[in-house]
Amino acid sequence: MTLVAILSGAGISTDSGIPDYRGPDGLWRRDPEAEKLVTYEYYMADPEIRRRSWVMRRESTTWRAEPNSAHHAVAELNRKPGFAVRVITQNVDGLHQLAGMPARKVLELHGTARTVVCTRCQVRSSMKDALARVEAGEEDPPCLACGGILKSATVMFGQRLDPAVLAEAMGIAKACEVFIAVGTSLQVQPAASLAGIAAEHGARLAIVNAEPTPYDELADEIVREPIGTSLPALLKRLA
Ligand code: ZN
Repeated sequence: MTLVAILSGAGISTDSGIPDYRGPDGLWRRDPEAEKLVTYEYYMADPEIRRRSWVMRRESTTWRAEPNSAHHAVAELNRKPGFAVRVITQNVDGLHQLAGMPARKVLELHGTARTVVCTRCQVRSSMKDALARVEAGEEDPPCLACGGILKSATVMFGQRLDPAVLAEAMGIAKACEVFIAVGTSLQVQPAASLAGIAAEHGARLAIVNAEPTPYDELADEIVREPIGTSLPALLKRLA
């Protein structure tokens, strides 16, 4: 059994029509007003920020997005005998699961946009239901269980990553035989360091990204071609 870890970033989902919001050059970093909508401190303090956040969520391209050939190739490798695949993703779009990756094999470092969580009682429910309430006129729908402030179950700026998810990702990086970083600039820690940890522990490291990354020197293979065609080809060569 070959354990293959896939670390995916925004670049894997751009072919699905989802822009890079979060990266170092992403929209949220270039527009301070937009960044406030996804910064925990502002979100919790200001009902107007929350109202605008719900509008942004309603208009998100995520709800229309379909997995692309790269997501499908990962799920296909997972179905091949002899391979164990684990996805560690910086994306919150849920497209790996929609492509057929079992949810238990996908670690979402930055959470998921498809779920909402109460900031007071931590109860989780579906984003779809929350957006239906917004559609029906609630500008900042409160938690139905306790009245607390709801937010998307993503890791906002100012919030830390779930330590349990991160610990599991570290374990996978140490144990895998192949580590493929795809569509990530490997500039956001601690996610980026997973590539280095994998290489140090003997994994074959491949980096599939249009731009150079700080980990290119450690890589056994660097691919600069478009992800939609190059990732499926690379995964085929493994099998
Ligand atoms: Zn609650």
